Amino acid sequence: MRATTVIEKKRDGGELTTVEIEFFINGYTHGEIADYQASAWCMAVFLNGMSRRETADLTMAMARSGDMLDLHDIAPIVVDKHSSGGIGDKVSLVAAPLAAASGLAVGKMSGRGLSFTGGTLDKLESIDGFHVDLSEAEFRRQLKEHGIVLCGPTAELAPADGKLYALRDVTGTVPATPLIASSIMSKKIAGGADAIVLDVKCGSGAFMKTQSEARALAETMVDIGHALKRKVVALISDMEQPLGYTVGNALEVKEAIATLHGQGPHDLTEHALVVASHMLHLGEKAPSLEAARALAEQLLADGSAWRKFVELIEAQGGDSRLVEEPDRLPHASIVRCVAAPQSGYVLTINALEVGFTSVDLGAGREKKGDPVDHAVGIVLHVKVGDQLEAGQPLFTIHANNEVRAEAAEERLLRAVTFSREQVGPLPLFYGSVS
Ligand code: URA
Repeated sequence: MRATTVIEKKRDGGELTTVEIEFFINGYTHGEIADYQASAWCMAVFLNGMSRRETADLTMAMARSGDMLDLHDIAPIVVDKHSSGGIGDKVSLVAAPLAAASGLAVGKMSGRGLSFTGGTLDKLESIDGFHVDLSEAEFRRQLKEHGIVLCGPTAELAPADGKLYALRDVTGTVPATPLIASSIMSKKIAGGADAIVLDVKCGSGAFMKTQSEARALAETMVDIGHALKRKVVALISDMEQPLGYTVGNALEVKEAIATLHGQGPHDLTEHALVVASHMLHLGEKAPSLEAARALAEQLLADGSAWRKFVELIEAQGGDSRLVEEPDRLPHASIVRCVAAPQSGYVLTINALEVGFTSVDLGAGREKKGDPVDHAVGIVLHVKVGDQLEAGQPLFTIHANNEVRAEAAEERLLRAVTFSREQVGPLPLFYGSVS
């Protein structure tokens, strides 16, 4: 079989066989198929889609590209959560330690920033010393000793996703349902998760712009999980505006820390509590979702979630003094306020624009392997529905380059619209699939 034959078949709208998909993923994982061929193939999938069967085959080929963890000697149920990607989405930093604080085993393989969205791994690397590349043995040891792991795909675990993810990020091939579904579910399956909470984002700052697209992605992933006997819940959540008030790696870590101290923004706190409740419920730490919610609130309020977060940081080599005193996290040299150009109610905050502004400031990547600037990003001062006067702060830009700061200001001013009429707040969730 030849790589070009598989690319051409998908380019021409054909349905790939299980064998063709396995051949392509294996070849790419082992360096026998080049980046440029895999890019062309991803674009063909992006343009022509995949059937549910092809998507399931792709997921399994990617999951089997490395080892498949069986963690039942460590814990009876291992729980994981994953977001389809958003702006200001630091939910994992709060929900994972929150769920693990109950004694539940949370083994999580996360991703890096993808296109205009941020990534948990980049955020965690704002903490000096924190390493995300764990071997399989390290993953197992840490889960056993600490009940929580937050790492990236490795040469051993879902290596095909590690390679394809970085390639899609810089080839305009991220927002394709089969590629997102297989990327997420292959990591969860290879990582040994028995129960998975999926947070499918929907809106301008998400890859799925409409509720029907988000639901289709949610259903695809839930079907794959159920076919493999995993417990899966997918929540469909709002991404019309950024989540919380910060966008950018270290800024988001600081906001997550505040949230773990019970001082976070309402939307982020509520979002993390909902996700953690589902994790606790699927992980059988509570007999009902209501009981799981009460447990999650208690673990946040009594400091258990915060202590588990510090334990995680230390276990993966991070300098915990930086999270105990978050002002010591990386900070930018230029901090500039953007004032509201007019009075009124905030009608829209274009999350996509905010995300691209953050990437252009240096928080994300333009080319595969580019380093990210952990210090830069944006602080928002408003949410949709807030009333404000002209001249009040709208955003604060954190930059390390004057030209980029200027460009960010112009772009952010275009990202917000106002109304004279009162505007209601946006919902946090639109529904769920289970
Ligand atoms: N998260 C992932 O892990 N993969 C995607 O493709 C999108 C979000």
